[in-house]
Amino acid sequence: METIQREILEERLEQEMSALAKEMYGKTIEETTDKELYYVLLNLTKGMMHATIPTDGKKKVYYISAEFLIGKLLSNNLINLGVYEKVENILKEKGRELSRIEEAEPEPSLGNGGLGRLAACFLDSIATLGLPGEGIGLNYHFGLFKQVFRDRLQTAEKDEWLEKQSWLTKTDTSFDVYFGKQKVTSRLYDIDVIGYDSGVNKLRLFDLETVDEDLVKKGIQFDKEDVEKNLTLFLYPDDSDEAGNLLRIYQQYFMVSNAAQLILKEMREKHYDLRKLNEHAVIQINDTHPSMIIPELIRILVEDKAFTMDEAIEVVSKTCAYTNHTILAEALEKWPYAYLQKVVPQLIPIIDELDKRVKAKYKDPKVQIIDKDKRVHMAHMDIHYGFSVNGVAAIHTQILEDTELHHFYEIYPEKFNNKTNGITFRRWLLSCNRELAALIEETIGSGFKKDADELEKLLEYGSDADFLNRMEAIKMEKKQALAAFIKEKEGVDIDPDSVFDIQAKRLHEYKRQQMNALYIIHKYLEIKKGKKPSTPVTYIFGAKAAPAYIIAQDIIHLLLVLQDIVNNDPEASKYMKIVMVENYNVSYAEKLIPACDISEQISLASKEASGTGNMKFMLNGAVTLGTADGANVEIHDLVGDDNIYIFGRDSETVIDHYEKADYVSKDYYEKSPVIKEAVDFIIGKQAMKSGHKENLERLYKELLNKDWFMTLLDLEDYIAVKDKMLEDYRDREKWKKMMLVNIAKAGFFSSDRTIREYNRDIWKLN
Ligand SMILES: *Cc1c(COP(=O)(O)O)cnc(C)c1O
Repeated sequence: METIQREILEERLEQEMSALAKEMYGKTIEETTDKELYYVLLNLTKGMMHATIPTDGKKKVYYISAEFLIGKLLSNNLINLGVYEKVENILKEKGRELSRIEEAEPEPSLGNGGLGRLAACFLDSIATLGLPGEGIGLNYHFGLFKQVFRDRLQTAEKDEWLEKQSWLTKTDTSFDVYFGKQKVTSRLYDIDVIGYDSGVNKLRLFDLETVDEDLVKKGIQFDKEDVEKNLTLFLYPDDSDEAGNLLRIYQQYFMVSNAAQLILKEMREKHYDLRKLNEHAVIQINDTHPSMIIPELIRILVEDKAFTMDEAIEVVSKTCAYTNHTILAEALEKWPYAYLQKVVPQLIPIIDELDKRVKAKYKDPKVQIIDKDKRVHMAHMDIHYGFSVNGVAAIHTQILEDTELHHFYEIYPEKFNNKTNGITFRRWLLSCNRELAALIEETIGSGFKKDADELEKLLEYGSDADFLNRMEAIKMEKKQALAAFIKEKEGVDIDPDSVFDIQAKRLHEYKRQQMNALYIIHKYLEIKKGKKPSTPVTYIFGAKAAPAYIIAQDIIHLLLVLQDIVNNDPEASKYMKIVMVENYNVSYAEKLIPACDISEQISLASKEASGTGNMKFMLNGAVTLGTADGANVEIHDLVGDDNIYIFGRDSETVIDHYEKADYVSKDYYEKSPVIKEAVDFIIGKQAMKSGHKENLERLYKELLNKDWFMTLLDLEDYIAVKDKMLEDYRDREKWKKMMLVNIAKAGFFSSDRTIREYNRDIWKLN
């Protein structure tokens, strides 16, 4: 199969498909089950990708990331190979539906949220732009976890996704990794990443040869200390105890030791001079999880390659670049020195040396690598010993420079740069919304698929009733499809004629799902008092909460309690429905996003680094309701005041509140009867009857006494602006124009643009 040329394969697609079905199952295409046909297509597609010429060059980017939330691959790969329609038609003639076959594919659970999805979009764009580059990460067997609701609570189960036949290709590359004297052995698996209409790159995932799936007992429990068996079982294992912390360090070192060995092996094979490492390799450190690649490379160069410490530090510093994804202090990793000593004693002399050099130059405790409590600040190491530091949206980078990393910015202003995140339009438009993509193509041609800025041509159709009506009809079609899917999966009836208001993203207090919940309570109470809304609304949520994040679990509980109360109320359910979908993932996102009317992007200003969900929704014709935060700010700049709904305090006001520590949530509760009534509902009779006292009381107290992410600060403004937005929804002519402007202005958020900027400013490939 691998030896067949791609063009020939394409010509003979139908014969090849039938031959494969015969060979694998002794059946005709018509006779195969959906799952069997999926495996036939998997093998066929893999063969075509293997037959594509790999992208190569003098210099390559290695994008190292703890997560790659790649989503299902069949339909995207077919699109990028340019054969989706052909395959669809061949199957149709045989009475088979490609979209049904896609359902048989398991979604890889190799990521958790925005950061991992970004890495996946980047791989697509790197391949599409024909740049030499690959992703390096770990092959988690059970991913983060599979979310299952029981008794209105989130429970976690292992997310099994690996099958005998999959997109992974086992390689003969294997390395020894040492934790002090303890040795484990790795195995490399590759996934081909095909660009749109271009070459092929690789995602390289390391697994542990001795991994043992049977170690997992109930739910996601397992022996955290048995590292010879557990290293690649889960992404982000529970770190609420010491064993969990140590395990994360084991995992991170396993990842970077393999990465370093792989990179140096490639250098050797290509006969490159290691002293010029930075001319052949650039390592993008995605968040702090891969930071130990810096001391690890230095260690190898000094110990095995006869570099002096000065030489090793210099060349590694010119090779590594760091991307910051958060300003939440608690999310910036600081490992206790003693833990590193225990897991990776061989790195300690290097880390000590790096720290000593910083201390000799700078007295400010804020920029030290090892602090007075003997914790190692991974981001600080990245900034001192990398050549680039980037934030992921304009406002985020600004806050890093002005506030969070200001002391570093004063030392290294030239290292700081912004790279506003992006999304791949292949997955988030061409694949998930084929109908809209086809309408756009018919209207402005196909250029937008490779040059997203061409979407602006749509602005000329702002008064074209035919175009606007067809666009609106596609939205309705997608809402009907989502309603059917939700009925099947969640057993909830929703009305496609209602407004679909969607908040789908990881559950975190700063993302403020709790504020949306309080709005829903407020609306419910209004209806019960006789004030009927003019527009029925369906409130849809999708979110996983980290199993150790108690308040986040409580917020999920509240949403499920509200779903129970409201949907079962014969009066209120005429005007509102709530659905918290189970196990939100990329596949679910691909169904939610095209069907959305209102895109909820309501973080506490300054806390959401960028967001990428906001971009996906916009591209699919949803209108944003959000705070002036992350990439919302850039969306606002692009679409103008008339095509977005912004509310709440701005980042400066919020940062000021934190500095002065003068935000007192109880004041807002006591001042406003509307807020008080909504918050009290959480521990009222009705909620208690449907929910659990412990969870609801804890959440109530948190909101009243802490509210660390200032929900109550913005609640009244949120209610006012959201009500206005729902009123505007009724003006269909106005709304359709807003949809159009959002789609037309989304081009800036193509990850092709983002990757071009990374390459222009940081990687400098070709
Ligand atoms: C895009 C995406 C995210 C990120 O969403 P944000 O709103 O930016 O936090 C998270 N999960 C999935 C499955 C996604 O597709």
